[in-house]
Amino acid sequence: MDYGILTIFPGIFDSFLAHGIIRRAVADGIITVSVTDIRDFAKGRHRETDDRPYGGGAGMVMKPEPLAEAIKTVRNKQPDAKTILLSPQGRPFQQQTADELARENGLIFICGRYEGVDERVCRAYIDEEVSIGDYILTGGEPAAMVIIDAVTRLLPGSLGCEDSAEKDSFSDGRLEHPHYTRPPVFEGEAVPEVLLSGNHAAIETWRFEEALLRTLVRRPDLLANRALSKAEEEVLKRWCRHIEKLVAE
Ligand code: SAM
Repeated sequence: MDYGILTIFPGIFDSFLAHGIIRRAVADGIITVSVTDIRDFAKGRHRETDDRPYGGGAGMVMKPEPLAEAIKTVRNKQPDAKTILLSPQGRPFQQQTADELARENGLIFICGRYEGVDERVCRAYIDEEVSIGDYILTGGEPAAMVIIDAVTRLLPGSLGCEDSAEKDSFSDGRLEHPHYTRPPVFEGEAVPEVLLSGNHAAIETWRFEEALLRTLVRRPDLLANRALSKAEEEVLKRWCRHIEKLVAE
């Protein structure tokens, strides 16, 4: 996967690209990341990338000319890539969006700043606007990192353990089960016995039910928005019977 990033603060990405799974994915050739400084396309002594908004009001707007030139240049190098503007007004980014984007030939991210981007650039050069949540960041850079991180871990070979992305929360419409590691007792609390039993079938059943319980308690909306599997239905019915019995006593 080839990523292009357009920003007025390219240095922000140095640390992001130098650590963990992203660093390894670059080293292994699973991804390439090219960061372009929009300021390199700005004219004049001060190389300004922003200007005052027409109609007045607070804040500045990203000027169309340097941004459009930067986008054209990056698109020439990545003609098959999808061009995404990070924007709080865009499509909400979810695991399903990450799945979709992981199937693209390449992704170009435009990181907005100030009050945002001149609307004419959005209309002419952007394939899609994507938001990472209903809150306002000062710039699109953290949003680009979030999306690159979530998409990269879905690319074959990027994670140490091939199946770990499949079992993560949201991949099958529920949260993942809790995790434990050594020591067996920490601050007086012991690891659930089943995990030490070596009984793999019992461990799988425990994980399945814990994941379901977590989802029911923390994110019931995830269950409400999809059909339940037969196994999930059976577990939920058993819990209902148990609760009814407790209430009756
Ligand atoms: N005035 C804009 C509005 O109200 O919609 C917000 C501009 S924000 C201060 C500056 C830039 O940060 C945006 O152009 C966008 O690139 C980025 N940004 C802010 N919040 C974001 C979010 N939730 N998701 C993705 N990008 C965001």
